[in-house]
Formats: sequence, structure tokens, C-alpha cells
Amino acid sequence: MQVGGDAVTGPLPGRHSPVRPIWLCRVDANPWPCGEAKLALLARYDGDRPGLLALLASLSAEATEHLTQLDNGRRIDLTDRFLAWVRPADH
Ligand SMILES: [Zn+2]
Repeated sequence: MQVGGDAVTGPLPGRHSPVRPIWLCRVDANPWPCGEAKLALLARYDGDRPGLLALLASLSAEATEHLTQLDNGRRIDLTDRFLAWVRPADH
């Protein structure tokens, strides 16, 4: 199934994709994942939480690498930004 229009990078749904290497949303310029991106990801990965978490973990690692370089090597922790919003549905 195609998600129409934009050149979507990889498995990211919708138009709210990150601008690398600054990791801001290309639509609304919020820190990615923005609200719309989260909604699109949740819809796309509905029922596949492990898949969503795996995707976000790899994106988080990529973003950490990029943003650390942009900030002269200062370590940043993007785990919360990328992963904390994905809560298990039932626990
Ligand atoms: Zn956005």
C-alpha cells in the first residue's frame, strides 16, 4: 500500500517526516516526532508496537548521532523524545 505523494523516507507514514540532520518536522518545524507524526505512526503501527518501538529506537540512535555532531559532541539523550510517548496499551 502506498502512502501517496511525498518521497517518504523508509517506513515513515504521512508527510510529517524529519528533516535530517536537524530532526525537525518538515511540515511544522517542531522537534520530530511532532504530534502529527506520532498520530501517523500510531495509526500505521496499530497492533505492531514492537515494530514501532524498533523503528523509533533506530531513528533515535540516528538522531542522537546527528544532533551530537551538530552540537560539538555534547551528549544528548533523545530516548524520552523518541520513545517515552509510546506506552504499552495495557499494563
Ligand atoms: Zn509535523
